[in-house]
Parts: sequence; structure tokens; C-alpha cells
Amino acid sequence: MLSSREEVLKLTNELVEVESVVNTIGEIDMANSLYQLIGSLPYFQKNPSYVIKSVTEHDEIERYNVLALVKGTREISNKTVILMGHMDTVGIEDYGKLKEKACFPNELVKALSNESLPNLVKEHLDSGEWHFGRGVLDMKSGVASHLYLLKYYSEHPEQLAGNLVLLAECDEEDSSHGVLSALGDFKRWRDEHQLDYLALINSDFVAPRFVGDPNRYIYKGTVGKLLPSFFITGSETHAGSCFEGLDPNFLAAELTRQISYNPDLCDESLGETTVPPVSLKQTDFKPTYTIQTALSAYVYFNFFIHSWSPRDVLIKLKDQAELAYSRALSTLEMRHRKYCEQSGQPFSKLPWKTRVIIYEDMQKLLVDQHGEAFSEHMDHFKAKLLLDKTLDTRMFAARVVEEEWNWMKDKSPAIILFYSSLYSPRIEMTGKNEREQNLLMALDGAVEAVQPHYPYPIVTRNFFPYVCDMSCIALSDNEEGIRAVTENNPGWGTKHYVNYEAIRDINVPVVNIGPYGYDAHNRYERMEIQYSAEMVPNLTNEVILRLLGIGGRQTTQHAADETITKS
Ligand SMILES: [Zn+2]
Repeated sequence: MLSSREEVLKLTNELVEVESVVNTIGEIDMANSLYQLIGSLPYFQKNPSYVIKSVTEHDEIERYNVLALVKGTREISNKTVILMGHMDTVGIEDYGKLKEKACFPNELVKALSNESLPNLVKEHLDSGEWHFGRGVLDMKSGVASHLYLLKYYSEHPEQLAGNLVLLAECDEEDSSHGVLSALGDFKRWRDEHQLDYLALINSDFVAPRFVGDPNRYIYKGTVGKLLPSFFITGSETHAGSCFEGLDPNFLAAELTRQISYNPDLCDESLGETTVPPVSLKQTDFKPTYTIQTALSAYVYFNFFIHSWSPRDVLIKLKDQAELAYSRALSTLEMRHRKYCEQSGQPFSKLPWKTRVIIYEDMQKLLVDQHGEAFSEHMDHFKAKLLLDKTLDTRMFAARVVEEEWNWMKDKSPAIILFYSSLYSPRIEMTGKNEREQNLLMALDGAVEAVQPHYPYPIVTRNFFPYVCDMSCIALSDNEEGIRAVTENNPGWGTKHYVNYEAIRDINVPVVNIGPYGYDAHNRYERMEIQYSAEMVPNLTNEVILRLLGIGGRQTTQHAADETITKS
């Protein structure tokens, strides 16, 4: 075992002390200080082109990734393992009056010990075995573990039979500009140095899955995330004659009831099940109060996937929306009939019909009907809309659909289904090719080698459950699956763009071996030192050695034994 504890802790503190909240100038400070730190190591003084600071692409904010390369000399080989971690954090507002101390773990611990704390937090604090602060868990201790290994092999390249690439990326907590931009650098280094990327090891944090869960998890792939969105047009009416119109909020309510928390929409794969979708927005587009019902409403849902493609999800949700729509109509009909009886008005059947349209079908229809005039108008409209910086990708998409709806000949109320945000692809690591098999085998060996040094079970699972940038490293979807995203995001190519082909080009199998702790994204964020600063770097190292091998397959086990006896 490498004795990494003290150095990983020290590096963690150095990283945490540079406040690097996503979408702030702190991201630049963080990249600068990491670039300097790596650049000052003797190996990189000798090989200055092996560390770079690389500006993000297609980004509205100035920020950088830091990449570094160490070439082993034990055996000259193309085999390369990528170590990835994000340098940005979420904000520090949650620390309240302790905000000033959020990025100074030692001061923070002192201040927290004067507060009344939840029992478990107090127990951890008093034990001295836990480290507190913004980013200690998510995920600067993970970056520190990677840095530790990078530094170690830069000092001992003769122990490395292959190469290591470190990616410390920005903007993980928001829009993934960091990892998406890094794909270009990976490609460039692959060509320049003839690197053969065998695997990527991410080191984002892991946490217990339920109260009392003793396991420390390693994830072999990651959950995918979609944001299915529904623009709902109604038929406007005065509230005094409500049955003469169709209130889009009524449809929205039924839609949310149908989709939120619905276990039929959980995606099971490799024995693991996603949590069901839940609504993240439900609004109408009335700018101010009037006594008219709304013209349109907007709802979107978080949607996790393990095995379904974005195309599958559209088809399932079209069905769900149709169910919701017809249920809303039958409730409305029932209530209308009852009202007519109560009030003595003559009953007449309401005209509404279930109508759910997938965005790309509406597009085709409009292009068929209006041709160039429509396309030109929309190009112009989107260009103008881009100037409004208050619109996020989700609102931008809704505004585009709203404008397109005006071109529809048949304006009877409808639900239009589309995607309005980044698709983070799912990654299933099934062992479907040799590369995946090798990584899975290396991981099993690493866990077996390290487990005896640690009292709690180290357990592997298939899907990292919290959404992370591993999504942007490999694609499990075919082209048809991806087309469902590009053709159904109204902001595609204007407000929003992802080069999925660049992901497919890199397509490296991934695992996540990361720090363990609690309360990421809140003021009690903390990591367990023993697992995070000792087991994580050693597990990562064991995977690296097994993948790169020493002098070929036969000696891989020997290499692993050698590192274990070092402690
Ligand atoms: Zn993270």
C-alpha cells in the first residue's frame, strides 16, 4: 500500500482553500493554481509541454481545464489510463455565517464544534477521522488522490509501464463545458503521443445509499439523465365561462400526477433500478394577472435512465402524456355534466380531443406546410432570442416551441413533447468488449487487494447514481438514440450543442473510485479520511497497475503484489 494519507490530506486542503464555485472567477483561480502546482514538479519542469491549461469551447464564461501527462519508462507503451476529477464546487451560501470559513477545513471544524449539531455530524466531528469543508468530498479530495498518483509516477516513471493522463476539469456542477472541451485535448494528445486510452477513472464522491449502509461503493458506469419537457397549449376562456375553454394548467396537473413518482417509468438494468421521474418545473406563461385562463403551460421532469435510449423515453412519455390527457378530458366531461345538471343548463359535449405531438413531428409538419418562410422566420427568431441572457436552455426551448405553435394551422389544444437541456448519456459497463472486460477484471483485483486494509465492505455497483461527467466520456446509445436528442431539442445548434460524435470518438470505459462521505452540497459536507485519502489512491493505483501491466500480462499480478508489500 502507498502511504498516501498525509499528502492527500495536504493536497486536499490546498485545493479547498482556492474557492472555486462553478460559474465564478474562482474557477480560473483554481485552474491557475493547479497548473502552477503541477508545473512546479521537477518532471514537468523537464517536460513543460506535458502540462497544459486549456480554455473551454463554446462557453459563455471564461474558464479552463488542466491536463497533465506522465510517460512511464518501465516499459515504453501506448497504454494510457486517464484520471479525471472536477475542480469546481457548488456555492457556499449554505454555510450561513460560517461562509468565510467554508474553504478552510481546520478553522471550519473549530467553528462547527461550537454549534449544536445533528448527532451523526457531531460524532464524526469529535472522532477526528472526518474532514469538513466545501469541496472536501465533492470532490477535491478525489482530485487530490489523482494528483498524488500523478506526482508519485512523475517521480517514479520507472515503475510505470504506460502512461497517465490527468484531467482536472471545470464546470462539472453546471453544464459540463469542462469535460466536453477536454475531448479535443484527449484527441490531440492521442495523436501527438500515440496514446491508447484503456480506461478512465473518475473520482467523484460516493455516499451511503440508505441510513446505516456500511458499504463504500465503486461504480462501473453511470446513470443517464434527460429533461423531458412538455409545452401545453390550451384554449383560453374567461373564468366566468370556464367550460368554454380548456385550461392548460388542468392538463399540466394531470400530466404531473401521471409522471412524477411513477415506478412504471423506472429503468432497470443489470439488476439496478433508477429512481422514478419527478417534476422540476410546472408553470404557465401568463405574465400578469388577468381573469382569463392561461394560454399555455410548461412542465419538465428529471428523468434517469440505465438502459433506455432518448428515443425510448420519448415513446414512453408520449404514451404517458396521452393517458394523462384522456384522463383529464374524462374528468372534465364528468364535471361538466354534473355542473349542467346542478345549474339546469343544457348539456352539450365538449369538443376536446387527446392530442400529444412529439416535437420533431411538429417540425416536419410545419416545414411541409410553410417551407422556407417558416425556417427563415425561426432562424431569425432564435437569433434574437439568443440575445436574452436571462433565458436558460430550458426556457429558450419553451419560447421556441411557443413561437412555432403560432404557425400551426390546427391550434386545437395539445401537449408538445421535447427535450430542453443537456442529455447526460448513461454508461452501461457490461463487459461487452475486451477493453471493458480488462477494466472490470482490474477493478475486481484491486478491490481484492485493498479490502484487507479496510474494515468496511468495498462494494462495486453498476451505475453512479448522482449524474457526473463520466457521462461525456463514452456512449452506450446508437446514432438513432442520439438523433432523438438532437432533433427534439428546440435550442439544438443555437442555445445548446453537444458534439456527441466527439464522445463516441473517445469512447473509453469508465469507473468511479471516489472519496466517501456525507452531505455533499450542504454545510456539513465531509469525507472520511481513511477511505478517501488512503483507500481511494490505493484502489486507483491497483487498477492502473493491473491495466498497464508490467512487461505484459503475466507479470500484472506480480506488479500488484509488489505495491502492496511496499507499505
Ligand atoms: Zn462532484
